[in-house]
Amino acid sequence: MGRETDTSRSWANPSRILVATDFGDASRAAFDWSLNLAKTLGARVILVHVFDLPIIGFPDASIVVGAEMATRITNAAQTALEAERLRCAESGVTVEAWLRQGDPRVAIPPLASVADAGLIVVGSHGRTGLARVLLGSVAEAIVRSSPVPVVVVRARSRT
Ligand code: AMP
Repeated sequence: MGRETDTSRSWANPSRILVATDFGDASRAAFDWSLNLAKTLGARVILVHVFDLPIIGFPDASIVVGAEMATRITNAAQTALEAERLRCAESGVTVEAWLRQGDPRVAIPPLASVADAGLIVVGSHGRTGLARVLLGSVAEAIVRSSPVPVVVVRARSRT
């Protein structure tokens, strides 16, 4: 049998669990699953949402959102994240809410190290996820490049 790695040791009993949310059904299932695991292990949950500011590209120019629109988008993301965090207020689990800007496929995997998390938990599909796709694109990117094990949780309503 191979030698145990640091990764497998932290997975054996992660004290910090990183959960990625886009506020969809599968994300909620992932968050609920993480809360149950965290309660059992006495772990802390870091709930992260990554938002991107839209850039509309034309052949000879790009339109970037202005400062006012950027602030509105950031505030809306912060409000949604805080509401999601408060949804679990009675779970007894300590939950930190992290908001980041960028491409979630790129931004989330390195956050496992920043958060000192032994595990990343994601939903199987995003808010706009198509049932025919085996795994959503963000989830797949995280599975492919995460430095720690990734758990993919399916939304309860999906068959
Ligand atoms: P997708 O790959 O977009 O179908 O989404 C699958 C899962 O990836 C979601 O259930 C979330 O766990 C995660 N995810 C997708 N988009 C984001 C985002 N912007 N921020 C954080 N997590 C996300």
